[in-house]
Amino acid sequence: MRFGLIASRLHRRDANGGLAHWIEASDAGIRSLQLELHAVGGTYDALMRQGLLAGYERLVRYPDGRDGGVMRLVSHIAGGLATASELDGVIYLIDPVDPSSLYPEALALKRQCVVHGKPFVSTVAGAIEWMAVERAHAGLAASEAERRLFEIDQQTVALIAHDALKDRMVEFAAEHFDLLSRFRARVGTGTTGGRLNDMAWSRGWPKDQPWVQRYLSGPLGGDAQIAELVLERRCQKAIFFEDPHVARQHEADIQLLERAVCSATRDTTCFNSPAMAERWASAFA
Ligand code: PGA
Repeated sequence: MRFGLIASRLHRRDANGGLAHWIEASDAGIRSLQLELHAVGGTYDALMRQGLLAGYERLVRYPDGRDGGVMRLVSHIAGGLATASELDGVIYLIDPVDPSSLYPEALALKRQCVVHGKPFVSTVAGAIEWMAVERAHAGLAASEAERRLFEIDQQTVALIAHDALKDRMVEFAAEHFDLLSRFRARVGTGTTGGRLNDMAWSRGWPKDQPWVQRYLSGPLGGDAQIAELVLERRCQKAIFFEDPHVARQHEADIQLLERAVCSATRDTTCFNSPAMAERWASAFA
């Protein structure tokens, strides 16, 4: 398995950064998975400088950002020019106030991950969790740091889907109803939440209780309300089925929610596509 790797300057600056935090938590997991990490220049250099993943040979250095390192990652997520360069996912530890997180190549990187159903992991907690997901699929047990992220009865999950993916969301939630019901609470944007409540009631969930607590519809501010829950550390996971194929009137709100998730980088994880959510859910099984 091969993943692209980038960390914003804040996360790679020193040993207190997100990059070091992730590697400390996931070092053994990365080695046992034999995960190949294709790191953009400055991130690769930070790993070397901080002695992270010392002696690990499956590290590849891409050019610096200004020389096209991130642009190459985007192409490699889409399949690249040769199968040998194809990547299976990306870990991009984002500092939301670092302007490079808004460069077209950074946005395209997430978009191509969503288009190709490959994991796009944008937070420190997400990177730790994703290593546990992949190890569960490989039949390997989770570590202590990873286990905390699987204690979903202590967590709130947000369920949001764009119009073309609302049926997919209802299907996903129905298929994993018991798993999602184990969360302490579920929240959602208005329309998605309404569809999910109808599904839950049709399965016998008590009629006087909503399965999902609904906020405003996304375009009317629901994404922003859920972003505030994330910032308040009252929502630990966002499952957001994004439609990458249409222009979205409330693009700013969508970005706002994703950037809030990155602000809460050590506490929150986000899945942007059905493929990612399915892979996580089946890891529980
Ligand atoms: P909705 O909002 O569930 O109210 O349609 C989703 C979104 O953010 O687009």
